[in-house]
Amino acid sequence: MEIEWISASKTEGLRVTGEVVVHLEHPERLSVVSVEPVHVEGTALVHDDTMAVDATIKATVVYRCVRCLTSFSENLETELHERFKRVPLSDEEEENEFIFTMGTAIYLDPYVGQELVLSLRQNPVCKEDCKGLCTVCGADLNNGECGCDRHPIDPRLEVLVQVLDNMESDSTGD
Ligand SMILES: [Zn+2]
Ligand SMILES: [Zn+2]
Repeated sequence: MEIEWISASKTEGLRVTGEVVVHLEHPERLSVVSVEPVHVEGTALVHDDTMAVDATIKATVVYRCVRCLTSFSENLETELHERFKRVPLSDEEEENEFIFTMGTAIYLDPYVGQELVLSLRQNPVCKEDCKGLCTVCGADLNNGECGCDRHPIDPRLEVLVQVLDNMESDSTGD
């Protein structure tokens, strides 16, 4: 999605609307299967050498549950507020988070992508009480109990169990 300086320089600003393709760098690390479509709607307004872009980002995100690995989709909505400048920035302006851009238009997609990534869920779960997968057989425990013994064994206890096993086999040898 591109916004031309000239078309946004009208006094009432420019209505910005369209779809953006977001490429996530490590979707699997974020437990994200897909992010699409990403819809952007807002305004761009030029004042001297500054362009203010204010928009709402709406997307359908398909996550992979971190507990049971099932895919589920969710609607995401967030805001984009960026201030661009087409002349080199002073230190103060950099602190005020202006973005220096060159050319006759602003390519908005990377900023939309950034904002979207910040709004993604951390450790997404399909439902609050998702039971996850059985650590022994891999069954989805949301579909019912598989009957496996999943009591965690303390590694120190495991040694003891082995010692006892050995003693037992020794004594049966007599
Ligand atoms: Zn789940
Ligand atoms: Zn199991």
